[in-house]
Amino acid sequence: MTPAFEKLQKLLKELPGLGHRSSERIALNLLVEKPKRLGALVEALQEAAKSVRSCTRCGNLSEADLCAICLDERRDAALVCVVENVPDLVALERSGAFRGCYHVLQGKLSPMHGIGPGELNLASLISRARDGAIREVILALSNDVEGEATCHFLTERLAAEGPAVKVTRIGFGIPSGGGVLFADPVTLRSALDGRRTYS
Ligand SMILES: [Zn+2]
Repeated sequence: MTPAFEKLQKLLKELPGLGHRSSERIALNLLVEKPKRLGALVEALQEAAKSVRSCTRCGNLSEADLCAICLDERRDAALVCVVENVPDLVALERSGAFRGCYHVLQGKLSPMHGIGPGELNLASLISRARDGAIREVILALSNDVEGEATCHFLTERLAAEGPAVKVTRIGFGIPSGGGVLFADPVTLRSALDGRRTYS
């Protein structure tokens, strides 16, 4: 194959869920079988790269200052579900079980990987809590050591920030070490219903 093909395949292989065979199949399909599709894909990628950014309030993907969830007045803005990443938010939205708003941390505390509080998207959550705009924070972080440490940190941080915010954590019916992303909608719904006060 050509160097450009190899480069394309290598980049595709780095995407989640694609191995050697599938990345090869996609690269071949784009370059050989469906040349028309390639142009549209390049265009869509460029447009997404240019227009999609993070919501300034919650960190969800957005093309405006605030995302569609933050702008939706039918949702309870005082009930905030904290997730690690946008795919977790998408999984919870797909379950249809949550009508509050979100906050995306963009990671979890991990001293081993050099991720401290400074590397997480925290400022807007803390300032919303300080302003008394949050009634309850639901921690929907993974139930591993790092998720646990992040829950502790957030609970202490929120308690130190003025008006009392109730902090709960979703009940997990999924294996230890798992997170929101890999749970099915029914499990997510019962995890939200079964949330417990966290301290
Ligand atoms: Zn938002």
